[in-house]
Amino acid sequence: MHADLLLEGLNERQHQAVTAPLTDVLILAGAGSGKTRVLTHRIAWLIQAHQQSPYEILAVTFTNKAAAEMRHRIEDIMGTPLQGMWVGTFHGLAHRLLRMHPQAAGLNEGFQILDSDDQLRLIKRVIKTLNLDEKQWVPRQAQSYINGKKDNGLTPADIVVNHPVETTWLKIYTLYQEQCQRSNLIDFAELLLRAYQLWQKNPDILASYQQRFRHVLVDEFQDTNAIQYAWVKLLSTPTNHIMIVGDDDQSIYGWRGAKIENLDRFLQDFKETQVIRLEQNYRSTGHILKAANSLIVHNPERMGKALWTEGQDGEHISVYAAFNELDEANFIAGRIQAWRDKGKSLADVAILYRSNAQSRVLEEAMMHQQVPYYIYGGMRFFDRQEIKDATSYLRLILNRHDDSAFERVVNTPARGIGSRTLDQIREASRIHRVSLWQSCQELLGAAQLAGRSASSIGRFLDLINQLASSTQALSLAATVEYCIHHSGLRGMYLQERSEKAKARVENLEELVSAAEAFSMPEDTEAAGELNSFLGYAALESGEAQASEHQDAVQMMTMHAAKGLEFPLVFIAGFEENMFPTLRSVDQPQKLNEERRLCYVGITRAMEKLYFTYAENRRIYGRTQLGGASRFLNEIEDQHLEHVRMRTTVTRAASAKPAATLSQSQDSDNNSGLRLGQRVSHVKFGLGMILQSEGVGEQTRIQVKFEQNGTKWLVQAYARLTPVL
Ligand code: ATP
Ligand code: MG
Repeated sequence: MHADLLLEGLNERQHQAVTAPLTDVLILAGAGSGKTRVLTHRIAWLIQAHQQSPYEILAVTFTNKAAAEMRHRIEDIMGTPLQGMWVGTFHGLAHRLLRMHPQAAGLNEGFQILDSDDQLRLIKRVIKTLNLDEKQWVPRQAQSYINGKKDNGLTPADIVVNHPVETTWLKIYTLYQEQCQRSNLIDFAELLLRAYQLWQKNPDILASYQQRFRHVLVDEFQDTNAIQYAWVKLLSTPTNHIMIVGDDDQSIYGWRGAKIENLDRFLQDFKETQVIRLEQNYRSTGHILKAANSLIVHNPERMGKALWTEGQDGEHISVYAAFNELDEANFIAGRIQAWRDKGKSLADVAILYRSNAQSRVLEEAMMHQQVPYYIYGGMRFFDRQEIKDATSYLRLILNRHDDSAFERVVNTPARGIGSRTLDQIREASRIHRVSLWQSCQELLGAAQLAGRSASSIGRFLDLINQLASSTQALSLAATVEYCIHHSGLRGMYLQERSEKAKARVENLEELVSAAEAFSMPEDTEAAGELNSFLGYAALESGEAQASEHQDAVQMMTMHAAKGLEFPLVFIAGFEENMFPTLRSVDQPQKLNEERRLCYVGITRAMEKLYFTYAENRRIYGRTQLGGASRFLNEIEDQHLEHVRMRTTVTRAASAKPAATLSQSQDSDNNSGLRLGQRVSHVKFGLGMILQSEGVGEQTRIQVKFEQNGTKWLVQAYARLTPVL
């Protein structure tokens, strides 16, 4: 395509940003103003108008999906495939670098990535080894201590203890680090830290990348942490150019170490930076955009920007006050059905929530009403039990000393290795500071294991060795397939015969397809295909499920929705204690971050947005009463309308949603029973009313029983007793 053509359809400011002279540039702009679009066009512009080679470009995006999309969009604009360009997430790029220079980064070639579950398991073992009480030294806290330090670039040796309690946390960190090094494992935070140290400690390697990456472009810069910032900064030289794109109002990863201040810091560190602001929003209707603006003004200390749209006001944002979480889920599923009935696509619909735990009830409603859906995050493909089992075998093939993988599959499928034997192995590994694999060998050698355990352990070690030797000459996909069969995993799930087990077998087969489709990034051949694939699996596990071909509703947390857009959006669980979370309400910084998260959620919607909340919610095994989210009150009324059970009325100045609740209860049922009511049935036990149909003697109600599933009953004969 001719260079000028790729400027078509850009507004003046966007044009200015895309064609900016080759200096450092900061694009500061609100949601939906075309930041990502500008970044993409800029890359195409550099290649087309400035004859820069894709090889000289490094682009950082927030998710692997965004990276793939960006590559695709640039190829579309240019009409040719891109070769040699590095596009990826910080973690993905760091991984790639470490694979290319393992020794310089202080790693062994076959290093593996420890995901956050594995990390937690390892930390638990460390705490046990140190004879500490888990109740006092909570593993999750240790995990955030360790990751927090790493995000700030601090290894155990860099830490100066200024509080006695910290001495213990540091001990945990130190031993954990030792164990990782010994097992040749690195966690997510370590990926970034090592990639940074790789450059910092090896000036020649750094220089080669400085020469290579003349253009560095970073999207979603407001969510970079200290180490990511430092990493980008290392690349800067007088002849390199950095373009960063960000929105301070969308900084939502403070809890994970992200620093909004990095935007300001950039301006100080890069004095010549040209700042460009984009203010026109192309994504959302007037009501949606103004609602978002009216919410975010409640945050102090914003860099401040006004977003406007030329588009229509569109429909009001609908607010639905549900009786409980089931009612909420049914309402959402119903509205999605109506959308589908209009011939619209399900892939255009997103259900966003604050916490992954909310998805279960929503999923049930979707399944019940036969609405296909995908979950981003939550139980992701590579996080599933059977997939982790399979990848653990693969990891052991590569590295016998991978203790997390060992623990996971030593007795899966069951091979008669009891917990006492395992304790003995762990104990030996603790005392001699060797891997579990080695301690097995030693115990066997010294004949210290009891007869049956000894032969089971011996068989397991043989199995792994045999898997490794038999797959040596096989392709990646064939290796995966071989291991799934010969480890006995497939057989184990086949025997189970339940629906769930069937799905697990399908997933294992899907893993073979994933291996078939896997293509190694250039430059990382040395690491070996299997190794690369496992790294990809670990990084991918944070994202979408495997198959995305079917037309399906997208379900995800608001965090995962960053950067995305959908014509129809539901924000579910819009109530106090859920969103904002209970933890955040008395901490202003956290509350402000929740508000930014809400801003992100709202601005994902293009045409239509729903807020739904439950008066009563059962979650985490208890019932909570939150009432509407405070954010709902902060949004200007004129953009909202309240949905009742059967009618729609615009919200009167300050009508309390609670008042209308009893109205709809009355109109729904005149027997004292209402939707969402908990009831008891002589035969079926406790349950909850989901729906009712018909009037008078014909009234039928649907009850979901805790033990006996969901049933339709004729109310007149059901003899239900309301319970509290
Ligand atoms: P976010 O802050 O959510 O990441 P963003 O600023 O990156 O948003 P984009 O995703 O780049 O915004 O753009 C939002 C939408 O507006 C996209 O659908 C994009 O194609 C569209 N858009 C951007 N600029 C224009 C334009 N000049 N003309 C028409 N559509 C545009
Ligand atoms: Mg964007």
